[in-house]
Amino acid sequence: MPMYDYRCSACSQAFELLVRSSTVPACPHCQSTELQRQVSLTAAPGTSQALIAAGRRAAAREGHFSNYSKADRAKIK
Ligand SMILES: [Zn+2]
Repeated sequence: MPMYDYRCSACSQAFELLVRSSTVPACPHCQSTELQRQVSLTAAPGTSQALIAAGRRAAAREGHFSNYSKADRAKIK
């Protein structure tokens, strides 16, 4: 079972929760389910999730601009 760091949007408390996939995590202080998952301090940089996110950002940036010359972009629009 993964453990995540959360911050509650409602009461701003930070806490750790064990998360089962079948349950919605709720704030232990106010029972709000509006939680923001924090980047875990124990997770090493370069996890697959981080790499995928970085790859998508790079693809979005390069795909829209650097694959086209200025003249090509003028023709497309
Ligand atoms: Zn709360």
